[in-house]
Amino acid sequence: LQAVLETVHPSPSELEGAIQMWRETLGGEFVVTGAASLKAAQTTTFKTDQQVPVILQPANREQVQECLRIANRFRVPVYPVSSGLNWGYGSKVPNQDGCALMELMRMNRILDFSEDLAYVTVEPGVTQAQLYRFLQERKSTLWMDATGGSPESSLIGNTVERGFGHTPYGDHFANSCAYEVVLPTGEVMQTGFARFANAQAAESYRWGMGPVLDGLFTQSNFGIVTRMTIWLMPAPDYFQAFYFRVDDDGALAGVVNALRPLRMNGTLRSAMHIANDYKVMASMRQYPYEKTGGETPLKPEVMKTFRKELSCGAWNGSGALYGTKAQVAEARRLIKRALAGRVNKIQFLDDFTLKVARRFAKPMGAVSGWDLSGALELVGPVYGLTKGIPTSHPLKSCYWRHREIPAEINLDAGDCGLYWCAPVAPTDGKHIEKVVRIAYEVLLLSGFEPMLTITLLTERSASCVVSMAYDRRVPGEDEKAQACFENLLQTLGEQGYYSYRLGIQGMQQMNGAEGYNRFVRELKTAIDPNNILSPGRYTTPSVG
Ligand SMILES: Cc1cc2nc3c(=O)[nH]c(=O)nc-3n(C[C@H](O)[C@H](O)[C@H](O)COP(=O)(O)OP(=O)(O)OC[C@H]3O[C@@H](n4cnc5c(N)ncnc54)[C@H](O)[C@@H]3O)c2cc1C
Repeated sequence: LQAVLETVHPSPSELEGAIQMWRETLGGEFVVTGAASLKAAQTTTFKTDQQVPVILQPANREQVQECLRIANRFRVPVYPVSSGLNWGYGSKVPNQDGCALMELMRMNRILDFSEDLAYVTVEPGVTQAQLYRFLQERKSTLWMDATGGSPESSLIGNTVERGFGHTPYGDHFANSCAYEVVLPTGEVMQTGFARFANAQAAESYRWGMGPVLDGLFTQSNFGIVTRMTIWLMPAPDYFQAFYFRVDDDGALAGVVNALRPLRMNGTLRSAMHIANDYKVMASMRQYPYEKTGGETPLKPEVMKTFRKELSCGAWNGSGALYGTKAQVAEARRLIKRALAGRVNKIQFLDDFTLKVARRFAKPMGAVSGWDLSGALELVGPVYGLTKGIPTSHPLKSCYWRHREIPAEINLDAGDCGLYWCAPVAPTDGKHIEKVVRIAYEVLLLSGFEPMLTITLLTERSASCVVSMAYDRRVPGEDEKAQACFENLLQTLGEQGYYSYRLGIQGMQQMNGAEGYNRFVRELKTAIDPNNILSPGRYTTPSVG
């Protein structure tokens, strides 16, 4: 068993042989070996050493299959990405050195769409922005879900990482079905009812019959997903977003506990977020070097002095209510009641008030004493996300430690440092406080600001998304950030908090009990005997 799972290292002649056959299959233009392209493929938002010898750009499923057959023949490992914008988790960079990178962006067709049953079937190259445009052009009454990542990122790429967005359909894996998968040997299979000819409910009934296999193709290296059905949300009759501010640093646990029953009983149907002051500040402006005399990190006591200027609290909640006007009114009443005495300010916003606020931001701010213009700059994109509208606005926060933001944002350009770490905890104030304390201690000690968002991801669990943004051009920062990230992951793991997803830099956290490891290893051996597909991705280190 161990032998077949060993890391694959093709000889130069094997690699050359594979490249030649890939050229015949895809056409020379789509087998990229140019130095600049390879360098870009090897660059992410932190230090990596993996080399990519070649980039493959198949146009259809048959070409994906043939590429894998060739990979097996010449024993060259292949690492597929959809759009490869997995920023903060490793972008396009493979887990292992020497993998051919397979980019699936040319496969960008929307294959099926049903307004009545509210679903869309897509290929891996279909992006958030593309689906949004598609729905707008059709004047569809359906909403997609969107993440805070790039509008150009892939729907399938995010779903296979079990990413999440901001509407009631925010759990992407939970709202997908009927996968078409190319297995590492080049064979094809479908999940659910999609495997049956003429299956009428393949797109609408997720479980099919027999073992449910969709999950095997998320956070794994068992296959390349070439087609997927994604469910869309019928636009509600009425929508209202809400925002609250908590000034007391120590009040988080009480707020989380007050919100939990509302998330569990369906008053809150979507993953609402609570961001700390650092996170809010980074989304509004860059590091205040002038105030600290160039010193980093921004100490909590200095951070506090910015809250008034930014109109933010120690903790800042944002969420949304979906339903009929009466349902939303009742939900609003319950939220106000639950948060009474726990928050300093709560604000509700709908399309009409947002329009009015935009028009009269200045005079209204003068009357209410609230800096509406500044707040709207931040609120606009967040408001849109709760309605499934993709935005590139959050990407700017990754340049927090830079002195300027480039006109064209590409986090993989080489100077933008970013790590995400996303531990999951039960939605219970004492757990959330513990995770927050660990993040503050570890990051501040290493010289980074703890930017946090607590997302009430499911009815009973929250993900505390920690981001570390730094300037890679500062000597030593890459090494410092890597050590800090590893320390964070380890400390959280020791306390029992594991990540909902990992980047290429964090796969060591996969080391759980041997029963799971053995099962995964046996599956991998059975379906990928040459270990050519994304070796080392979401498998234990001994799997290779
Ligand atoms: C400011 C900012 C905000 C962000 N906000 C969010 C957020 O709200 N929610 C969120 O989830 N993420 C968020 N992200 C993280 C990330 O950018 C997104 O998750 C993004 O969707 C991932 O990139 P991608 O879609 O290009 O996936 P890819 O990079 O294409 O794929 C990710 C990985 O999945 C595997 N994979 C991809 N496609 C396939 C396939 N077809 N078959 C098999 N395996 C495949 C590969 O191993 C690949 O490395 C954010 C990032 C930033 C910088």
